[in-house]
Amino acid sequence: MGYINDLARAHELMAVGADFEAARFWVFRREGLPCYHCGAPVVKQVLGGQSLYLCRLCQTMT
Ligand SMILES: [Zn+2]
Repeated sequence: MGYINDLARAHELMAVGADFEAARFWVFRREGLPCYHCGAPVVKQVLGGQSLYLCRLCQTMT
């Protein structure tokens, strides 16, 4: 998952009405809320002292 791919997805989401920050970080701080990409609940994980927000279906971390 590289920056380019993230940005491509962000543009897809913006095309359907998401704002840029929401699109770029579509699971960020959205624990328990639906993933913008697939609708699955976002889960929070703490890794190395940092909170990460992850969609298990997309396997995408912020
Ligand atoms: Zn997802």
